[in-house]
Amino acid sequence: MTETRLRDAMPTAIGTPPDAVAPILQVQNLHTHFFTGEGIVHAVDGASFAVHPGKTLGIVGESGCGKSVAAKSILQIVDKPGRIVDGEILYTYTDKSGRYRHENILSLPSDSRQMKSIRGGEISMIFQEPMSSFSPIHSVGNQLTETIRLHTDMDQRTAREAAIEWLSRVGIPNPARRVEEYPYQMSGGQCQRAMIAMALSTNPRILIADEPTTALDVTTQAQILNLLQRLQAEQGMAMIFITHDLGVIAEVADEVAVMYLGRVVERAPVQEIFRNPQHPYTRALLTSIPSIEAQPRQRLPTISGSIPHPQNRPPGCPFHPRCPEYMAGTCEQKEPQLASVGTNHEVSCFLYPGC
Ligand code: SF4
Repeated sequence: MTETRLRDAMPTAIGTPPDAVAPILQVQNLHTHFFTGEGIVHAVDGASFAVHPGKTLGIVGESGCGKSVAAKSILQIVDKPGRIVDGEILYTYTDKSGRYRHENILSLPSDSRQMKSIRGGEISMIFQEPMSSFSPIHSVGNQLTETIRLHTDMDQRTAREAAIEWLSRVGIPNPARRVEEYPYQMSGGQCQRAMIAMALSTNPRILIADEPTTALDVTTQAQILNLLQRLQAEQGMAMIFITHDLGVIAEVADEVAVMYLGRVVERAPVQEIFRNPQHPYTRALLTSIPSIEAQPRQRLPTISGSIPHPQNRPPGCPFHPRCPEYMAGTCEQKEPQLASVGTNHEVSCFLYPGC
């Protein structure tokens, strides 16, 4: 059955028109926990960030910091035994009559018509492992066609033609033949291109790309990044780009949110993050990037220790056991809050007033 687009259908309260820089999506104080036999894992523990129309928000952090779980929470596709326990995800859109509306996505039941319209329609996602994200028993063309039919009014034949057109747009050669192929018949790079085609074929307003180039070689990685940026410009959509790679962030992001143990610890425009990082964790991440100016045999700086398991969250500032600027008697006593340290620049660290 075709899902009606949310922007044409939702009878929600009319909000005030957002100004030019108002976010299209605001995640506020999001908590997503996993209820395991060994205890509660606080995978996302109060994360807040915003995405602006046509812009790319880069979410960066080490493995296990909660960035992928936060992204899945937006679409309400968190795997069990995970559950969103608190927070708001405010989505701003215009309805048929051109009026601005706001919806708290988390107030919608996961299997509701509205949520199905958002998931894959208004907000699409590209997953880390394209090979395992496609069904292995259906052709890529069938999966693409079904996605298009689910979110549009196209009949089977038109949707099939649109699927071929999309495979062509993402640079898959001979798309009329390749549309019949199964995922295992494609290379990793082509499979990722097909996944991008599927995510964009519904004309989403927001694209979430979760480590979309991690499994690819560097040449294919560069091609996929260029492709995503070109399609983003053509479609005018916002993007959330999740990665642990600050080099990729420098290339694609307009704004950056740095996550540590389920929380955003610093957020700022991308140039500000690279030129003027404030949080000790962000500074440590930046100094651990390999540089071509480094001396031969020079050791690459690393962050001491490893990220604690979210089940064993340290008291106070969660970074304090690894922080080179740890202040005894303060940092382990209470958790710092995000506070402004400049224009559009926020940080949570007791080195700064207001945190
Ligand atoms: Fe380091 Fe303290 Fe700042 Fe945490 S609050 S990052 S431990 S200085």
